[in-house]
Amino acid sequence: MDVSTVFKKRMSFSFEVFPPKMDQPMEPLLETLDHLYTFDPDFISCTYGAGGTNKGRNSEICASIKKSGKAEPVTHFTCVGNSREDVKQIMQEYLDLGITNVLALRGDLPAGWEGTRGDFAHADQLIGFIHKEFPQLNIACGACPEKHPDAPSMEQDIMHLRAKQDNGATFIMTQLCHDVDAFSRFMERIRKAGVTLPVDMGLMPVLRKDPIIRMTLSNGCSIPGELATIIGKYGDNPEDFAKAGKEYTVRQIARFIDAGIDGLHIYTLNKYADVAEILGMAGIQGSPVK
Ligand code: FAD
Repeated sequence: MDVSTVFKKRMSFSFEVFPPKMDQPMEPLLETLDHLYTFDPDFISCTYGAGGTNKGRNSEICASIKKSGKAEPVTHFTCVGNSREDVKQIMQEYLDLGITNVLALRGDLPAGWEGTRGDFAHADQLIGFIHKEFPQLNIACGACPEKHPDAPSMEQDIMHLRAKQDNGATFIMTQLCHDVDAFSRFMERIRKAGVTLPVDMGLMPVLRKDPIIRMTLSNGCSIPGELATIIGKYGDNPEDFAKAGKEYTVRQIARFIDAGIDGLHIYTLNKYADVAEILGMAGIQGSPVK
C-alpha cells in the first residue's frame, strides 16, 4: 500500500522505531511492535544506519511489520556509501519482501566524512533515481522545519525540498521540532515556494534531559521557553523530568494538531511504555495486546 494515500483522507498517525545493535536481541523490539500495533498506526518507519551497518536488521524489522498485516512498513534509506548498483539491488530486495514505501535521505555522515562516498551526494538525486528505476515504490523525503544545519539559508533548503518533490517524492517527513510557531512559518514558506506535498510532523517525546538536549541541538532545532523551563526546573531529577516532559509532550501533540499538520509521526525511541502513557494522556488509546 502507498502510505501517501492516507493523507488524502485524514491526518495520518505513525511511529518510528530503530533496529537494535547487532549484538542485542531482536525480541524486545518485536514485543514493542506488538504493542504499537494496538494503536492502529497507518505506518511504522524503521531507521537505516548510514553506511548500511544495520541493513539486515532494518529489512528484518520492515519484513516483520509487513508480515503482521497490522501496519505498513516504511523503510528509511540513505545515500551514504551506496552506488547506483547498490541502490538497485537493495530496492529490489525491499520489493521482494513486500516493502513498497521508502524514506529516501542523504543520511547522517559518519564522523570525519566529507561527503556520502556514494553515487548520490543528496537526497533529491537519490529520489530521482529510485523514482525512475522503481516507479512502483512510494518515496517520502525528509525536511527540517528549522533549516538543516548545513544549509546556508532557509531559501536554499526549501529550494532543495522543492527538488525532492519535483523528483518524485510523495510526502515529507520532518525532523523533530518543538517550536510550533517555527513549524507554522516553515509551512507558510514551503507552500509559497510551491511545495504542495503533505507534511508528516516528527514529534520527539521529551523523556530524558541529556538525550533531548543533544538531539535537539545536533539537529539545529531550538528549545522553546517552556521546554527550557522544564530542563532548568527538573533537570537534576530524572523522575520529575520524565513526568513533566511527558505532560509537555501531550500539550505539544495538541498544539501541532491544532496547527493543522497532515500527519503525526512519533519517534518512539523504542520506548513503548512511555509512548503508550503519553498517547493515553493525549486521549489516543490503544487496544489490549492479545
Ligand atoms: P539532503 O536533502 O541531501 O539535505 C542535506 C543538506 O544539503 C541540506 O542542507 C540541504 O539544503 C542541502 N542540499 C540538499 N540537496 C542539495 C543539492 N542538490 N545540492 C546542494 N545542496 C543540497 N539519517 C540516517 O542516517 N538514517 C536514518 O534512518 C535517518 N532517518 C531520518 C528520518 C527523518 C524523518 C529525518 C528528517 C532525518 C533522518 N535522518 C536519518 C537524518 C538525515 O539523514 C540527516 O538529517 C541528513 O543530514 C539530511 O538528510 P536529507 O535527506 O534531508 O538530506
